[in-house]
Amino acid sequence: MIRVDNLHRHFGGFRAVDGASLEIAKGSITGLVGPNGAGKTTLFNVIAGALPPTSGRVYMDGEDITGLPPHELFHKGLLRTFQIAHEFSSMTCRENLMMVPGGQSGETLWNAWIGRGRIAREEAVLLKKADEVLDFLTISHLKDERAGNLSGGQKKLLELGRTMMVDAKIVFLDEVGAGVNRTLLNTIGDAILRLNKERGYTFCMIEHDMDFIGRLCDPVIVMAEGHVLAKGTIEEIKANEQVIEAYLGT
Ligand code: ADP
Repeated sequence: MIRVDNLHRHFGGFRAVDGASLEIAKGSITGLVGPNGAGKTTLFNVIAGALPPTSGRVYMDGEDITGLPPHELFHKGLLRTFQIAHEFSSMTCRENLMMVPGGQSGETLWNAWIGRGRIAREEAVLLKKADEVLDFLTISHLKDERAGNLSGGQKKLLELGRTMMVDAKIVFLDEVGAGVNRTLLNTIGDAILRLNKERGYTFCMIEHDMDFIGRLCDPVIVMAEGHVLAKGTIEEIKANEQVIEAYLGT
């Protein structure tokens, strides 16, 4: 589904991503691991259109998507979770979900001419969808809670929920498990597995927690010094001498 071909992203003379090539198979939950500073976040930023590459190409389903801005990637179904922005923290969980652009009529001036009836109907559809998403993520009881009052893990679930308001094909998750307690981590893991199995989402996730990675991801890609060091099952990765060395070296 995604092919990254000899990607470079340099900052001045520093090669944060240094010739990374990898593939993410459709329907997979691909893990991306590696020591701090390996270039994982920079790679994500380039794939998701937040940073232009210095050189190299990114393809989605064979189409060259290198350097496309995030909103165009969004329409192609390539999404990256984002932290709930400060300005949305005073809005409820349900409102946060309803804010996700999905072509709703209320957004355009043109629709003021079409009439309020249709907007009201579309709002009802959005509301229903938001409630379904909250239910799916087992956080229905938080629907009227302000996002700013959620725990770290609950916020991560809400961020994941926002990808469900649109028809995502591939979702990039950046440390969705960081700082999350075990119970919520299991809930997040279950949601990812169900989205993958029941809705056909492909995931690529940066994660440090090897147990979490082991439970969810196959394959796991290891990055070090800006390029791909190894790829395999979690067992293969854990037994790989080069990988062990890369981790010990930091
Ligand atoms: P990882 O996510 O694997 O920890 P990063 O992609 O965040 O790695 O960072 C890789 C390297 O690139 C780090 O050494 C970091 O300091 C550097 N880096 C990342 N972003 C920038 C930037 N905007 N300017 C300069 N250096 C950067």
